[in-house]
Amino acid sequence: MKRASLHTLGCRLNQAETSVLESQLRKEGYELVAFGQPTDLLVVNTCSVTKEAERTCRYVVRKTLKHSPEAFVAVTGCYAQTGWQELRSMAGVDLIVGNQFKWDLPAMLPATEHLRKAPKPEVVHSKTIDRDDFILPDYGTPHSTRASVKIQDGCNVMCSFCLIPFARGHERSRVLEDAIREATLLAAAGYREIVLTGVNIGRYQQDGRDLLALIDALERIDGLERIRISSIEPTTIDDGLIERMAASSKLCPYLHVPLQSGDDTILSAMNRPYRVKDFAKLIERVVRAVPSLGLGTDVMVGFPGESEGAFLNTVRLAETLPFSYLHVFPFSPRPGTAALRMNGSVAPGLVRDRATRLAALDRAKRMWFAERHIGSTLPILFEAGETDGFASGTAPNFLRVAVAASDYLTSTTRSVRISAASERWAVGQVLPARHESKAPQTLSLVSIS
Ligand code: SF4
Repeated sequence: MKRASLHTLGCRLNQAETSVLESQLRKEGYELVAFGQPTDLLVVNTCSVTKEAERTCRYVVRKTLKHSPEAFVAVTGCYAQTGWQELRSMAGVDLIVGNQFKWDLPAMLPATEHLRKAPKPEVVHSKTIDRDDFILPDYGTPHSTRASVKIQDGCNVMCSFCLIPFARGHERSRVLEDAIREATLLAAAGYREIVLTGVNIGRYQQDGRDLLALIDALERIDGLERIRISSIEPTTIDDGLIERMAASSKLCPYLHVPLQSGDDTILSAMNRPYRVKDFAKLIERVVRAVPSLGLGTDVMVGFPGESEGAFLNTVRLAETLPFSYLHVFPFSPRPGTAALRMNGSVAPGLVRDRATRLAALDRAKRMWFAERHIGSTLPILFEAGETDGFASGTAPNFLRVAVAASDYLTSTTRSVRISAASERWAVGQVLPARHESKAPQTLSLVSIS
């Protein structure tokens, strides 16, 4: 049996898509092996959001060819879409598949017995990407307790730093019934929590049905305990969604809302469609309606023209708003984006310094969020494995909670009384079981043909 190893770079959406590719390859007769193990086929699902992600792609290919010099290497995803010319000259790459053709990749591979390295890479790519709503060709088998369900792709916003509209095309949504079918199968297989993923999921719109209509249908699925929204743009969070989050027992009180900058001049140069006042008002509204909210954000440092004053505006806003964590990114100039041509570049040392200062704030925010919960009792959905003698899982608001390790906690939801806090997680004790139900210890998706 031929072996296949898949490696994902970048976001949760890429992870969800790799999972679908894995299912397709399994059906084609491949044995899936962990990345780093000898293999006959390597598939890299790439990211192009930062220069670093591209460098990692090169590293992943080199590393695999060291232990498996004859491995056939296929590269797909956002870098294959936007950087296929550079990829063509990358040593060891045999097949480059743009995002438009990602799901055809398994069919493009030579028959397994003829899987040999090519003298030069074949490129399957088109500049344009479909705008139609979509169904997925297969469903993934997630590796964790939380299963990502892709509901949307593409973006029309054109932020000046972002390559995603070029890499993934215009907005389009997954056919609602197809998403529901996958979520139903996941629930039946024992997955308790699904995470709705996409590029701009607040813009979900399929045949007149919006994100709230999709959530309505998901809430009716038996056995599904939690529905979590992944990153969502601030301009797409409306009162209907806030009210649903406040009232629902399934929609998790959690939002990850990218801020990017706390300075209006920079937001305007970024072409972000809101200003600081709008963002702060939105957060105020959500927190008033959903007091238990867990709130994450993305912040970019070193965008062209970011003065010390502009950076301090970001720091002050991030300090003021009740974020439970910050993801801090240095600006990465990407070819083809408007920001590449902007004046006012920030010195790399200064960018690093600003990132370090915000990383310290991130740690303080995490500590504050964990401390807030000391003395409370929360339902924790436990994950597999242990770290440093602790089993851990998440609360509905995404607080990570650890307890003394125990195998039988995996994939169960248990009441935990929080007694201590750190930057890493809150620590507590599992209360005696009363209303708990068990999910299978080993999660596996029922097969779909
Ligand atoms: S909203 Fe802006 S940052 Fe987000 S994917 Fe669209 S263009 Fe990129």
